[in-house]
Amino acid sequence: MKRIYSASDLVDARLLADSLADACIRTHLFNANAIGAMGDLPFGETWPEVWVADDRDLDRAETIVAAHASRPAARGSVRCAGCGEDNPSNFDCCWSCGADVRVGGDGCPAVAAGGQP
Ligand SMILES: [Zn+2]
Repeated sequence: MKRIYSASDLVDARLLADSLADACIRTHLFNANAIGAMGDLPFGETWPEVWVADDRDLDRAETIVAAHASRPAARGSVRCAGCGEDNPSNFDCCWSCGADVRVGGDGCPAVAAGGQP
């Protein structure tokens, strides 16, 4: 098992973990609730971390992480028609329900209720 990504927020970490899950790469998300300790712990130690469970998946995971990290920056937000949550404008799929939030898009994988794939 190896840490492959530290995110500045939980939504970013969840998006990457979901992208890795779509590629059948098992991950573990650590520090999902550590944001409350910010100020008590050194800078960066409370950031959500994505770990790849099986080292044999590392090469494929690193390719997905590179694509995730190079996506365009968000400008504004877009509201999901499916669940009403706001999403950064550079998201293709709703972080909460997985619905496609692009205009005319239809490429998001199915996500069960509650945001878990
Ligand atoms: Zn949604």
